Amino acid sequence: MIDFAPTDEQRALRETARAFADRELAPAVERMRAADHAVEPWTVLREPYAKAVELGFVSVLVPKELGGGGGSCVDLVLVLEELGATDVAFAASYVGLTATLFALVARHGTDGQHDAWLEPVRTGRPVLLSGALSEPDRAGSDLFFPGTDASVGPQTRARRDGDHWVLDGAKSAFVTNAGVADAYFVMARTRDDAPPAGSLSMLYTPATATGVSVGPRTRLSGWATSHHAEVRFDDVRLVSDSLVGSEHGAGLVFASCPEIAIGLAAAYVGLARAAYEYARIYASERVSWGAPISRQQTVAMRLAESALDVHSARLVVWDAACAADADPMLGAAKAGLAKVAAVD
Ligand SMILES: Cc1cc2nc3c(=O)[nH]c(=O)nc-3n(C[C@H](O)[C@H](O)[C@H](O)COP(=O)(O)OP(=O)(O)OC[C@H]3O[C@@H](n4cnc5c(N)ncnc54)[C@H](O)[C@@H]3O)c2cc1C
Repeated sequence: MIDFAPTDEQRALRETARAFADRELAPAVERMRAADHAVEPWTVLREPYAKAVELGFVSVLVPKELGGGGGSCVDLVLVLEELGATDVAFAASYVGLTATLFALVARHGTDGQHDAWLEPVRTGRPVLLSGALSEPDRAGSDLFFPGTDASVGPQTRARRDGDHWVLDGAKSAFVTNAGVADAYFVMARTRDDAPPAGSLSMLYTPATATGVSVGPRTRLSGWATSHHAEVRFDDVRLVSDSLVGSEHGAGLVFASCPEIAIGLAAAYVGLARAAYEYARIYASERVSWGAPISRQQTVAMRLAESALDVHSARLVVWDAACAADADPMLGAAKAGLAKVAAVD
């Protein structure tokens, strides 16, 4: 009744991802490490990212009829665990985020939006996408505020002006891919008299639009290969077809794309697996009192517990991915579990 065995195609996909991580990604990450991270990550990682696009990792969730790979969330998590074991930031920010935002467009876009925004999927042009939600001096958790107070939540605003939207506001210094993304999916308030749940809309904003500016790169501990920065939107004029999903419906758009959180969790399973492997090898090589320390019971127990933690997190992520493939809303309910199990 329950079968967690990947199919032959999924095994092949996982092998492809592992080979890519070993041959293309690891040397690039090593080059950055050797340069003590004094180089801009994207200048080094642009090339392996283009290869990842070529291999279909970024378009895996887009249905075949829209030019994508027609794969599943399970396919995506298998890929992201492999990439995450080599570099969690590359897996989560460049590949995972772009792949899941393409899925969001496929799911919620109009025919015209599919034509325009999924062109890179059809042609294999390597682009990066970004989600701009959280804001400076506002709790990110406000997005999930269940109350009725309209003053809670994001303050970036979008208003209609004839055939256009006009976007104003600032997003937090944590926006992933800021400064290197080709487009931002911006969550903005489109009414002032309702709490976040009923007042936020999502607008597709090209990075080249007049009025979009990006602050200095935020240095995060552990995500040395990624780009994060504050993004400002000053009087940015967008064509009316920039609205993703329905007006005031951004919450629903995001909720129906649980692959975003599940993909992040999968990348962290990869990171945890790599940390476990590092510890296991060290403990089998480090000799104390004439024997590898892995033979000391306390160390062996720690390693066994780590192996169990990694596998438990993987199973929660796989369960969430299966749920997302069956029904996005069921996936949304389980995405939080996957994130807690693997990321927190
Ligand atoms: C690596 C990284 C990448 C990111 N990428 C992006 C991105 O691409 N785009 C973007 O917009 N943002 C991004 N963010 C920001 C992220 O969305 C926020 O950090 C997140 O939403 C949490 O918001 P916060 O940091 O303001 O924490 P807060 O909302 O202030 O929460 C602080 C703590 O309090 C807890 N808490 C808050 N409210 C409650 C409550 N009601 N009940 C119980 N506990 C509560 C939270 O769980 C948390 O532990 C990123 C952050 C990181 C670290």
